[in-house]
Formats: sequence, C-alpha cells, structure tokens
Amino acid sequence: MHETRHGVALPETPREFGFFINGGWRGDRDLFERNSPSHDIPVTRTSRCTPEDVNDAVAAAREAFEDRRWSGLAGGARAAVLLRAAEGIRQRREEIATWEVLENGKPISQARGEIDHCVACFETAAGAARLLHGESFNNLGDSLFGMVLREPVGVVGLITPWNFPFLILCERVPFILASGCTLVVKPSEMTSATTLILADILAGAGLPAGVYNVVTGTGSSIGRALTEHPDVDMLSFTGSTAVGRSCVRASADSNLKKLGLELGGKNPIIVFADANLEDAADGVAFGISFNTGQCCVSSSRLIVERSVAEKFENLLAEKMKKIRVGDPFDPQTQVGAITTAAQNDTILNYIAKGKAEGARVVVGGNALQCGGGRFIAPTLFSGVTPSMTIAREEIFGPVLSSFHFDTLDEAIAMANDTVYGLAASVWSRNINHALDVTRRVRAGRFWVNTIMAGGPETPTGGFKQSGWGRETGLLGVEEYTQAKSVHIDTGERSHWISS
Ligand code: NDP
Repeated sequence: MHETRHGVALPETPREFGFFINGGWRGDRDLFERNSPSHDIPVTRTSRCTPEDVNDAVAAAREAFEDRRWSGLAGGARAAVLLRAAEGIRQRREEIATWEVLENGKPISQARGEIDHCVACFETAAGAARLLHGESFNNLGDSLFGMVLREPVGVVGLITPWNFPFLILCERVPFILASGCTLVVKPSEMTSATTLILADILAGAGLPAGVYNVVTGTGSSIGRALTEHPDVDMLSFTGSTAVGRSCVRASADSNLKKLGLELGGKNPIIVFADANLEDAADGVAFGISFNTGQCCVSSSRLIVERSVAEKFENLLAEKMKKIRVGDPFDPQTQVGAITTAAQNDTILNYIAKGKAEGARVVVGGNALQCGGGRFIAPTLFSGVTPSMTIAREEIFGPVLSSFHFDTLDEAIAMANDTVYGLAASVWSRNINHALDVTRRVRAGRFWVNTIMAGGPETPTGGFKQSGWGRETGLLGVEEYTQAKSVHIDTGERSHWISS
C-alpha cells in the first residue's frame, strides 16, 4: 500500500487505461506516464494512439451516425440514456473525483462540486434532448407550408484541456449527444483518465457502440489529426488561442468543418466604491484563486474605484493571505497544485516580468513548498499600467493585476481594453451602474455582485478572440445542429410552362 493522504491511498502502481473505439477497449500502444502534480508520483498510464487510431475512431463515429442508431431515436430515448449516465456519474463520484485530483491537482472538495455540476449537465441535456425542435411557418398562404428542421451536424471531434478535464467534457458531451451527433474525444494527454471513465459509464447507460469514442495522445499528433480530418463535420476545441487559430487553419485547409472554440480570457472584475467591499474582496479572492487561476473565466484584472482602491487592496490582501494552499486531498485545502510543469514555468515567468516591469507585489509572488508538488501563492500586483505584459496577456495562474478608475466610462473602457471577451463581473449597490457596465462590457458571461455562479441551463462562450459559438443550455444543443428549411406545396400548381 502506498502512502495515505487524508484517508485516500495514493496508487501503488499507475492505473493503466486503453482507448475506446466502437464500443470496445483497445490497447497495445506506447504508454504515457502521468505524475500527480501535487505528490510527484506516477498515477496513470495512457495510450499514445496513432493517426490510424484516429481514422478508426472517426470511421466508427461516421458509421454510427449514418445508420441512425442514435440520431434516429426519439429525443425521449436519448434522454433516458443521458439520465442513466447522470446516475452512473453520481454513483462513481468518489472515483472520478480521486482521478481528477491525482491528474490535475485540484482540491478534492472542488472536484466533488464539479462532478455534481457534471451530473446537472447530463440532466439538463436530457431535458433538452426531449425539447429540441425546429419551427413551422403557417403563414405562407394556404398553398404553402414551411418548416425548419433541426438536424445533427454529424461527427463531432472534441478536444478538451487539462484545467477542468471532467467538467469541460461534461459541459459538451451530453449536449452533443442530445443533438443526435456522434463523437470522437481527444482529452489532454495530461488528464485523460476521467474522459476514459466516462466511456465506461456511457456504455453502461446503454449508449450504442460507436457514438462516443476516445483517442488519447499528444495534441500535436492526435489532436491535430482530428482537426485536419476530412470526415469530421464539426470540431469543438477548448484551450489556448494559439491552437484555436490552428484549428481555424486546419478547417480551412481540409473540409471547412464547423468550429466551436472556447479560448483565452483576461477577465475584468469591476468594484465600485458603493459595493459591499467585504463581499467584493471575498469574490475577487475567489475569482482569481479558484482552480489556481487555471481557469478561462478567472477574473484576472481588478478594476477598482480610486477612492477606495488602497483600502480595498489591503482588505483583499488580508483575505488572500488566508487562502489554504496545499495537499488537494486535505478537505480543508482551497487551492491545489499547478497542473503542468510548463504552466508552472509560465506563471512564475509572468510574476518575474510583472516585478521587472515595475508592478508592486502586495501579497504572494512566490512558489510554495507543500510536499512534492508544484504550488504558487495567490498573488496580487498593484500599480499595474495597461501596457505591462501582466495587464495584457492571459497568465492562467493565481496572479491578479489591480487598476484604478475614477468614472464609470473609464471603468468600462478599461474592462474592454483587451482582445478577449469571455467573462466579466461587476460589484455595486447602484443598479444603474451595474446594468450600464453589464450592457457595455463585451463578454459572453457576466456576474453582478457574484462570480462564477450559475449552472448548465445558461449558455457559455466568448466575444471577440475568446471564441466562437456557445456550449450548454438549449443554445449548446442547437450549436451541434444545422437548420434545414422545408417548403411543402399544398395547393394547385400554377404551371411555369403553359400547356
Ligand atoms: P493547448 O491549447 O495546447 O491544449 C488544449 C488542448 O489542445 C489539449 O487537449 C492539447 O493536447 C490539445 N492540443 C495541443 N496542440 C494541439 C494541436 N496542434 N492541434 C490540436 N490539438 C492540440 O493549451 P496548453 O496546454 O499548452 O496551455 C497553454 C495556454 O493555453 C495556457 O497557459 C492558457 O493560457 C491556455 N489554456 C486555456 C484553456 C481554456 O480553458 N480556455 C485551457 C487550457 C489552456 P495535449 O495537452 O495532449 O497536448
């Protein structure tokens, strides 16, 4: 038995996974060994698939789509499978949470919360599967009737990142399935375990073979093969803006596949002097530290009214010092490890750049020693100017930059001064200020006097360079459909050619 952490036994040997095509497990490939970012011991081994495996997976998804074994079912029958899958996830909650912690480094309490959200995603999508419908046009005159049918796009390629391996997966898969599409998933090589566990759950729930396929391996080989594949009808990608651009190019150079993209963010959180400052400071601390800031919607730019700026930053710093960083299996831990070594270097480099460019560290600004893993203290920079690197680029870590404003217009201009538009938050007791900001700041998700609230009922996605399309909610199902207009002649034909 390996060492136990807070009642959880770390794996004695890494758990080995095959990959999943056409309802069956395959293996016998080179293996990638993943170390736990918090404990630095090997925890999983996953297959390095080949481009031929990608072809097999796409062919299985194509066959399953064309013979209508899934899209031909009634919405209610698809919903029944999704509801059984929701129950399967609920039953395996502890197992999924454990592998999320071991591969990603997030706190166990957070992982459990995310899995509950995933159950809700399946339940919401089940409802959407029953309700998905088109439109009818009964106003075209007595001799013509019009309909708009919603049809599934076809075979979807899904590429997911390492920051929320199971959550991002479940914010897409049940909605894709609700639409009637079939899919091939490529998770990040760093965090593939729970995507593979979902294959088992879906098969157990009665999903027909070939509808959900998983190939594993690196982004540069297996991910890329999926983006370029001429028989993939749509690609849903979540990750960096750079790879997002390469997905656009690959689509243009292959079959012009439809794209859904969820990319970076540099999200503003605006605090007015009239806000409840205790609540706002708590929200700001949470918004930048949740998931160690490795979160596309993390609020990484604090824009605070100048008259309270110093007071607010001090209040915030006191709160940030109290955040419990450490072993993610400790139920008290709030912030876990940095998921990849590359991301750890990236964050520490940004902190060094912030210091070098003249910003002032109010709190944090350093790596932390907590066992064998990679940890970084939640960090607040003050005196940040708009041209500094830390003000402009997505850091994807627990690093917050603070800016000060005098007028509402100035706050809105600062919030919009970014190429991104994923999320934003505003804190004020003045409803006019809050609504003005909400209407004029360009972002796909907005929070007023809260942060990161909400469930799978509403859509998510970005403005500007944060992406294309929407996931979750009814829009998240429609995204994976296309509209077909149909006209039916119900009257006497008025002949074009006279007899
Ligand atoms: P990537 O964009 O490289 O990774 C995201 C996913 O894309 C992973 O599954 C990855 O596979 C895959 N991938 C990588 N290269 C390609 C490619 N050429 N073609 C197709 N798929 C590919 O992000 P990183 O892991 O490098 O993180 C870098 C930065 O991206 C972060 O610092 C952060 O700013 C941003 N990011 C944003 C996320 C978001 O939620 N919007 C999520 C993750 C990162 P594999 O990991 O196996 O290589």
